[in-house]
Amino acid sequence: MADETPKHAAASDQLAAIVAEVAACQKCPLAQTRTNTVPGEGSPTAEIMFVGEGPGAEEDRTGRPFVGRAGRFLDELIESLPMRREDVYIANIVKCRPPNNRDPERAEVNECSNYLRRQIDIIDPLVIVPLGRHALGWFMPDLRITASNGKIFRYDNRVLMPLLHPSSGLRNPEHARMLRESIHNLRDAILEGIRFRREVSQPAPPSTAEPEPEPMPPALSPQTQIVEEAEIVAVAATEEPDSSTQPAVNLFERPQSDEEVQAELKRQRAIEEAQEASENETESVEVDDRQFSFF
Ligand code: SF4
Repeated sequence: MADETPKHAAASDQLAAIVAEVAACQKCPLAQTRTNTVPGEGSPTAEIMFVGEGPGAEEDRTGRPFVGRAGRFLDELIESLPMRREDVYIANIVKCRPPNNRDPERAEVNECSNYLRRQIDIIDPLVIVPLGRHALGWFMPDLRITASNGKIFRYDNRVLMPLLHPSSGLRNPEHARMLRESIHNLRDAILEGIRFRREVSQPAPPSTAEPEPEPMPPALSPQTQIVEEAEIVAVAATEEPDSSTQPAVNLFERPQSDEEVQAELKRQRAIEEAQEASENETESVEVDDRQFSFF
């Protein structure tokens, strides 16, 4: 059933205007050898847009993109999602067939690609799927198609998921297998596209949240606490005095009061008792289901 929303109708009109422009286009030499222009077709509000390099013989004859054998394989891939061909948009970078299926020349691509840019702006898909290395090279020239097949990239304010060209799937069974598998990554690509779109349209507000508290150390068993306290006391007793934090008069360099002597004896006893207890302890202590080794 046709989508009757105003957005759909507006996009449909704008795309129709481009189709008319392309039909009359004489901007590059491919105009002299074409039978029909092949501007693209599909849903004006598609979430997924497939982009090939240029039309082949069957496309030139019919004026429709991807309708030869490779196109039928693309249809099979789309239907496996499951989706229908009319749910997506299918276009090429150049809209006229290069003679003898040669690659389009740089000047031809430069001249024609403005139509594709405008189509992308109007349709505003979440995910663009460049088909084959030439199409991928127009978007992201540094990527290699076999290595990036089925992978998801952020590109402008949308997501790119390159795929091998369907015609390579017709020639190479391994590529056909990769295509049948990778096409299902589109689900993740759409989710990533939605996430990315949200991030772009809603910049994160300045954080007003309280800083996360430092995690508390796990509760220790009484025996463990004793060992730790004893270690602290032992370390304190053996540490080199720090001249920057020590009081000007060192406790052990002046006559001590009875209270100070008793306190020191008590501390020494605590150390000895803890050391004695630790010698009888097993090598690890279980705290909150985790094993902590102390010795
Ligand atoms: S390939 Fe593009 S730029 Fe060249 S004539 Fe066709 S529509 Fe125009």
